Amino acid sequence: MNKSGVILKKKSSPHGVKVPERKLTAGRPIERAPLPEKAVISLHQNLGAPGEALVRRGDRVLTGQRIGDSDKFVSAPVHATLSGEVTGTTMVINPPTAQPVEALVIGSDGTDEWVQLEPADRPEDLSAEEILDRIRQAGIVGLGGAAFPSHIKLAPPKKATIDTIILNGCECEPYATSDHRVMLEYGDRVLSGLNIIRRLLSPQSVYIAIEDNKEDAIAHMEDLIIGMGLEETIKIVPLESKYPMGAERVLTKLLLNREVPIGGLPLDVGAVIHNVGTTKAIHEAVVEGRPLIERVVTVTGAVKDPKNLMVRFGTPLRTLIEFCGGIVGSANKVILGGPMMGFAQFDLDFPTVKGTNSVIVKDDSALAEQQCIRCGRCIEVCPMRLMPTALARYAQAGHYDLCKEAYVDNCFECGVCTYACPANIPIVQHIKVAKRELARRAPRK
Ligand code: SF4
Ligand code: SF4
Repeated sequence: MNKSGVILKKKSSPHGVKVPERKLTAGRPIERAPLPEKAVISLHQNLGAPGEALVRRGDRVLTGQRIGDSDKFVSAPVHATLSGEVTGTTMVINPPTAQPVEALVIGSDGTDEWVQLEPADRPEDLSAEEILDRIRQAGIVGLGGAAFPSHIKLAPPKKATIDTIILNGCECEPYATSDHRVMLEYGDRVLSGLNIIRRLLSPQSVYIAIEDNKEDAIAHMEDLIIGMGLEETIKIVPLESKYPMGAERVLTKLLLNREVPIGGLPLDVGAVIHNVGTTKAIHEAVVEGRPLIERVVTVTGAVKDPKNLMVRFGTPLRTLIEFCGGIVGSANKVILGGPMMGFAQFDLDFPTVKGTNSVIVKDDSALAEQQCIRCGRCIEVCPMRLMPTALARYAQAGHYDLCKEAYVDNCFECGVCTYACPANIPIVQHIKVAKRELARRAPRK
């Protein structure tokens, strides 16, 4: 422990891999991306149910106006990210599911005129119900990539006992630096949002997990915690930089020595984990009454001038790449969300969504797949102690029942096995197919 008592001893994991970090933009302050001429707002930007349009073609909308929502339990509204006219609807492919989803198209009027925001007069007097309602109305979802609606995560079932909050500032994916910059430039909002969550859940312990390749963020968060007089309440846990250190299951095991059950959540073992960008958004929703219409996105890889950008949702990838000087060389592939767990996107008109934390431009020169040489590396590195080689073999042969018996449900698709495989076997792709097939065959509840 250090002198202030805020920073605890560094932790490491025997699993996972050291990957080239390529954090080209770690030292680049956040810049504001240009407003697009039109925004394409997907009505399905959260885990759970898609929204339905609340506006029609020809309607005038203001920035921050709610334009899509659902009455389903697991859902979150979406808002206009610029002011102008609804010019119609279109379909966009949702990268995680590869399914088409409806989107609203808004032509900008160039004024960026906002709806009237309703800041809280005395945020400290808000009840738990009022806080959760403000979080839902603002459309807050997990910004670490999962996009699970935050108001649900923060209202655990009555029988659950939550004793720990972990704020996740690991950002273990190569290239990504948006969380790093959020901690450096918006650390006060991150901590304010964390305090709101503390009020809701009343945990015994609060940890902020940050990889040791972000020393400046660790020092800055420590200063802020001391400045707020919270050194006895909030502790920072530095983690060895390794992939996938920021995965919720890995964090729960490493910080609390608790195993998340198969098909379960950290909640099942008393922990709630939120990303630093999410608590910043929670502060803005609860204190300022501001809906989630933008986020920090790292635009990097084979672009002339990689940057961290504050991006309005619905901005096409093309606009961001052009703002970063355009593509360099023969790169022909864009990855959304990081090279390990992200999704390839070949359409540069695809609009950014709440879950877009990175846009990485790459050369798509895939290496040839070879036969498994039974080296066992995939087994060594798997943080869930699975047998990735067997899972891939069963999946390729269509033996999905054997995948199930080999605990395929416990795989959280981190991609470490694929990364480590010297035979270039796309193990995680085979596993994803098996999981999708098993889900399709499962009896509906
Ligand atoms: S089997 Fe799943 S959890 Fe294990 S390394 Fe591969 S992708 Fe990650
Ligand atoms: S790492 Fe690749 S080659 Fe080695 S055992 Fe696993 S699947 Fe086979």
